[in-house]
Amino acid sequence: MKVKINKEKCIGCGACESICPEVFVMKDGKAEVKAKGTGKCAKEATSSCPVEAIKIN
Ligand code: SF4
Repeated sequence: MKVKINKEKCIGCGACESICPEVFVMKDGKAEVKAKGTGKCAKEATSSCPVEAIKIN
């Protein structure tokens, strides 16, 4: 599983980090995926992103 964030789309709302802090971290107002960012909550965070900036492959 690979999690990717489209930083052009990300509005920095912080939802992904609060739902899934083991995968997402906020940096300079945008979300980033942690180095070994996998976790069950990633899917939940993906569907909670208001701008659909998170993609899971
Ligand atoms: S939920 Fe989406 S818009 Fe909000 S910080 Fe995460 S990636 Fe960015």
